[in-house]
Amino acid sequence: MNLPKEIISRYAVKPRKKLGQSFLIDKNVIRKISAVAQVSKNDIVVEVGAGIGVLTRDLAENASKLIAVEIDEKLVEVLNDKLSDYNNVQICHGDILKFDFASVDRNEKQKIKVIGNIPYNISTPLLFHLISSRRFIDSYVLMLQKEVIQRLIATPGGKNYGIPSVILQMFATVEKVLDIPAGCFYPIPKVESSVIKGFFMEKPLAELTDEDFFIKLVRVAFAQRRKMLINNLKRSKLMEDVSESLLKELLRMTGINGQRRSETLSVQEFGALSNILFKGQAEQPTK
Ligand code: SAH
Repeated sequence: MNLPKEIISRYAVKPRKKLGQSFLIDKNVIRKISAVAQVSKNDIVVEVGAGIGVLTRDLAENASKLIAVEIDEKLVEVLNDKLSDYNNVQICHGDILKFDFASVDRNEKQKIKVIGNIPYNISTPLLFHLISSRRFIDSYVLMLQKEVIQRLIATPGGKNYGIPSVILQMFATVEKVLDIPAGCFYPIPKVESSVIKGFFMEKPLAELTDEDFFIKLVRVAFAQRRKMLINNLKRSKLMEDVSESLLKELLRMTGINGQRRSETLSVQEFGALSNILFKGQAEQPTK
């Protein structure tokens, strides 16, 4: 009774679209994802949206401990039942976006790996939650919508390069490791899926004076993709206390031409820009 389809029918699971439920039913793909995750006996795995527990089992075999986070009460019952033989699995009924990574009990050597075939509607908030909890997280392996992944791995210059690319790449490595055909899920999703893998770096790619300001700046810079960087900055609340001449002066100091479009700036350039603009606006008298 371990085939995903059998679990679904035995427990009469009715996939809930609102919760992004699309279960992996292909055993080979499940094995491939666990192989990519390279879980070892030192690892604590936090699985995002464990569903009916098919990936959970594979991961738990190799992990020191696995915390399966699942929001749907009905599936929590399935998980409790299916995983009762595993004494290293802890099932946590709740919202992963509220999960407190700091509270995970571990010793110094143990690293947290975040793994999951996640509900696609929480992709962006989940990535932000992981970035802000990165002190506690070593690496991640996530199944996401293919288009989202194209944006996360994009390099400067193209139309896919934007807010998620710059922010994630400032703090983590990211690579696409698998493409997963839609037929491997039940129900079959309307979108294509891929898997990414990466680790959080000890230090950001560029040293940042203020991380929140950096994130705000990246958002502002891409507010209107087709506009020049300087125009996006001029119209933003972030820079409202800074005169145009000072803004130009600050840009000159970074060596970044304000007439460039944001999509041409490297992650490091965004870091340098953020530090200089942060200092520039902080020194302005507030209105
Ligand atoms: N990993 C499973 C299920 C994937 S479907 C598999 O591959 O088969 C996504 C799962 O995430 C569903 O079980 C859904 O109930 C759960 N989920 C949705 N939103 C969630 C949230 N905010 N926190 C935790 N789990 C969530």
